[in-house]
Amino acid sequence: MAALDGRVALVTGGARGIGAATARRLAADGATIAVLDLSQEQAAVTAAEIGGKSIAVAADVSNEDQVEAAVGKVVAELGQIDILVNNAGVLRDNLLYKMSASDWDTVLNVHVRGAFLCSRAASRSMVERKTGAIINLSSTSALGNRGQANYSTAKAGLQGLTRTLAIELGRYGIRVNAVAPGFIATDMTAATAARVGVDFEQFQAASVAAIPIGRVGQPEDIANVISFLAGPDSAFVTGQTLYVDGGMKL
Ligand code: NAP
Repeated sequence: MAALDGRVALVTGGARGIGAATARRLAADGATIAVLDLSQEQAAVTAAEIGGKSIAVAADVSNEDQVEAAVGKVVAELGQIDILVNNAGVLRDNLLYKMSASDWDTVLNVHVRGAFLCSRAASRSMVERKTGAIINLSSTSALGNRGQANYSTAKAGLQGLTRTLAIELGRYGIRVNAVAPGFIATDMTAATAARVGVDFEQFQAASVAAIPIGRVGQPEDIANVISFLAGPDSAFVTGQTLYVDGGMKL
């Protein structure tokens, strides 16, 4: 029997990158997956790749009505939610003096409001059944990063949300943890390289200098740790933020 047999996992931003790798990994662990993303079409591609009873749901995680509807659809179709991975994310990098209020709001809304709305909606199914695991995607940027006042604030905020939800939900058998990735090769970091006008291969090579493990991370490096935090081997772990960054020097 696989570790997550009989479990249902909802992965936000699951169409690509770390979310898609997580959806694949949790499915390999035995879970049935709901892939949530902005685009129904893109989410459906990942869900179809995974196969089984996986479903795709479209929602903007920062939109309360859409989140409620999406979570309702998952519970109606799959019966329950045991695992929530708050992974959906966006970047709107800029130095403080050039950062618009709209870019600040977008990043805070998707990461922090999104994790709040999805956790509130999905936890109802977990509370009823007195079991669950929520995993939030923080970042090494929570410790500060030039050009990311909005993103680092959001990712630090998620660490506070993680500890608070762990305190509130522990009595219902729900564990809440965060993973804080360093540099992971995805469309998000490729877009950052493009924005600063550097070839992605060169961008990665330059980043490796600050990573003792000697390589950048891959989405599967994060998915593996999320699998641990979602499963029974981490039964006594809650309220924690685990940095998964190859030992990156900040
Ligand atoms: P990615 O490749 O850009 O994928 C992000 C996914 O989230 C996309 O499918 C995107 O959909 C979706 N999304 C964006 N806004 C959304 C919204 N409002 N509602 C629902 N879905 C939304 O990013 P990634 O690199 O895999 O990152 C995943 C998570 O890890 C993010 O929270 C990110 O901040 C965090 N993280 C990444 C790194 C890294 O180095 N890559 C490091 C630390 C933390 P569209 O394609 O339609 O936009």
